[in-house]
Amino acid sequence: KQSDLRMRVLMFPWLAHGHVFPFLELAKGLSNKHFHVYFCSTPINLDSVKNSLNNNKNDNYHIPIELVELPLPSLPDLPPHYHTTKNIPPHLMPALMKAFQMSAPAFSDILADLKPGLLIYDGFQPWAARAAAAQGIPPVLFSTSGSASLAFFHHHHTHKSWDTFPFDAIRLKEHEKRAMIAAGESIKVKNVDDGDFIFGIFKLSCEIVLIKSYRGFERKYMDYLSSLCDRKLVPTGPLISHGDGDDQDLEVMKWLGEREEGSTLYISFGSENYVSNEEMVEIAKGLELSGVNFIWVARSPAGEEAGSAAVPEEFEERMREKGVVVRGWAPQAAILGHRSVGGFMTHCGWSSVTESVYYGVPVVAVPFKADQPVNARLAVEAGIGVEVARGGDGDGVARAIGEVFGEGREGFRRRVGELREKMKMEDEEAMDEVVEELSRISNKGRSLILQQ
Ligand code: UDP
Repeated sequence: KQSDLRMRVLMFPWLAHGHVFPFLELAKGLSNKHFHVYFCSTPINLDSVKNSLNNNKNDNYHIPIELVELPLPSLPDLPPHYHTTKNIPPHLMPALMKAFQMSAPAFSDILADLKPGLLIYDGFQPWAARAAAAQGIPPVLFSTSGSASLAFFHHHHTHKSWDTFPFDAIRLKEHEKRAMIAAGESIKVKNVDDGDFIFGIFKLSCEIVLIKSYRGFERKYMDYLSSLCDRKLVPTGPLISHGDGDDQDLEVMKWLGEREEGSTLYISFGSENYVSNEEMVEIAKGLELSGVNFIWVARSPAGEEAGSAAVPEEFEERMREKGVVVRGWAPQAAILGHRSVGGFMTHCGWSSVTESVYYGVPVVAVPFKADQPVNARLAVEAGIGVEVARGGDGDGVARAIGEVFGEGREGFRRRVGELREKMKMEDEEAMDEVVEELSRISNKGRSLILQQ
């Protein structure tokens, strides 16, 4: 009779796409290293996780991940289908946060029932860390945001100043500072000590913090953040979700297959941003002026968000030869990995920037809010992209595209290629370090189970 000791860990992500999928990739990495992983989310959310686990032909993880349902209470201001990962309209965020907090007792029951040796929690759900600690289960924060933006935010919290941040590459405009504070306010969660919520989230974490990053890109920011929050930062690597392998059959991929190598700009502003009418027009004009091929992911949130815009039809008609507009969910990983793509116009969400490096695609940055401006400056500092000067008549957009697709093209491609290599090398060892740290911290008495 052969026995095998496995560490049991419960993972509990916030339900947005940019959180669930990095958590899931980390879960796969851990299960490959013989962890027994419980993955907790809402039933609807787990359906998409299940699909991804079942359909993904690119996956090579061995040990099944056990899915654990946490039903959310029904609230009058929260339509049930918003328990899913895609397109969470920002105005529903407070109701979602509330629903999750109301489910805290059910979560405590799950902890008591499963008795994991460790909880990996999300910064949006610090109450879950408290629930674990109350049962003697060590909580470990997993941040799906980058180190530079968190260091910048923590610095402001400590020193009450943005401008004394010790790294010159990261300077924000006034409206960006305000937007960053607003983003912080919007995730303020009542359970955490008042006025200290962002530190609170880190301080709840037991000894270490896992962060979706890698040293080759962010080392100095990682070190600084570590000193500010007094926790060891352990990078997990990029944790890219690869498409499900069926992507190649999609219309947009066929279209891409007929373009020349490096000729096409991929445009997407993430899963939660909707651009205004003026911004839409500015980008459309800039695109037309630039003359590059493009794929533009332009979802409009089905009338949910007042002021959201749609790509003008006459523009689409006129540009039929040059580009396609995708109105649904785009297979971003497959697109960025395609040889015809030569640039990525992005809002600089952390996952998008990470994916750009992973696939070696230079960045045309159009940051809007929250951590996006910091991530954009980071990309510029690394020499892998340019930022669009906005507010003009499309000329700033065209100029930025021209820099990435024009004479400087080789330089951008070389630098992003070098960064990509570093990322891949580090990635191979990242999971070993994560496993070593988690094993050290884990509550061994509870976590080990005997396998036959
Ligand atoms: N994404 C995608 N298709 C889309 C839009 C987004 O696959 O049409 C994925 C993208 O690859 C990335 C994530 O959704 O992994 C977006 O995360 P990011 O941090 O860039 O932005 P957020 O949506 O959190 O603002």
